[in-house]
Amino acid sequence: PSALREVLIEVPNVRWDDIGGLEEVKQELREAVEWPFKYPKAFKRLGITPPKGILLYGPPGTGKTLLAKAVATESQANFIAIRGPEVLSKWVGESEKRIREIFRKARQAAPAIIFIDEIDAIAPARGAVEGERVTDRLINQLLTEMDGIEENSGVVVIAATNRPDILDPALLRPGRFDRLILVPAPDERARLEIFRVHTRNMPLAKDVNLEELAKKTEGYTGADIAALVREAALNAMRRVLLTLPKRLVEEENEEFLGKLVVTRKDFE
Ligand code: ATP
Repeated sequence: PSALREVLIEVPNVRWDDIGGLEEVKQELREAVEWPFKYPKAFKRLGITPPKGILLYGPPGTGKTLLAKAVATESQANFIAIRGPEVLSKWVGESEKRIREIFRKARQAAPAIIFIDEIDAIAPARGAVEGERVTDRLINQLLTEMDGIEENSGVVVIAATNRPDILDPALLRPGRFDRLILVPAPDERARLEIFRVHTRNMPLAKDVNLEELAKKTEGYTGADIAALVREAALNAMRRVLLTLPKRLVEEENEEFLGKLVVTRKDFE
């Protein structure tokens, strides 16, 4: 039963280098999360307090989850991830308890990052939604927990949403999610970086031109590009499977593996 479900603490292994583009966002996260974890005394001396909550907002598939994981990896913090809709659907009646438990675990595991994906599901403006009483109680619990985070306790909450406009404004007040960071869809340069990340370990034929692909994929998100690259690799595999005798393929011998090269045509 869900009541007994463990709060899962992860140690992610996403690095800054695994994220294409978004250089300013990365820098902002470094300063807001990594620096306070690493240099608490410096913050004290300067008389400034680090944020407790950061809201990443922007279209789906642009790397919000990746960013939260990378900042955890790079600041050697533990990572506890929850998804808004999951809290609502699975933990009805015990959702507040669940939230309390998550924050308790995070304090124990500090430095720790709590990542709440799709926070709009648990925190739409109070009274705005059907079945509001569940979400009202959840928001209140979340606010209580955030207000209770002590300075320099090594716990930071990062939330993500595609719909910042429907969030309960109480969440955005000072001391809560008071740092709003836009994670935009990638421009051409960022798309090129994302193509580079996703083809890093892929044998590419000489005719593959990533610059051109970046140019041609206006409107694609990082998730779209990842899917495109994966599909190209599968096209290459299909092509090779058709041309080689079954025996060679089944042994996965050198000739077979050597032919697995992704060409320009595979991207079409
Ligand atoms: P959602 O709002 O749908 O949860 P998201 O913004 O959290 O999306 P991610 O889950 O971080 O997006 O991205 C989905 C996948 O898309 C990633 O696992 C990655 O493969 C790819 N991706 C997205 N953005 C980038 C990026 N900037 N660089 C490299 N890969 C990316």
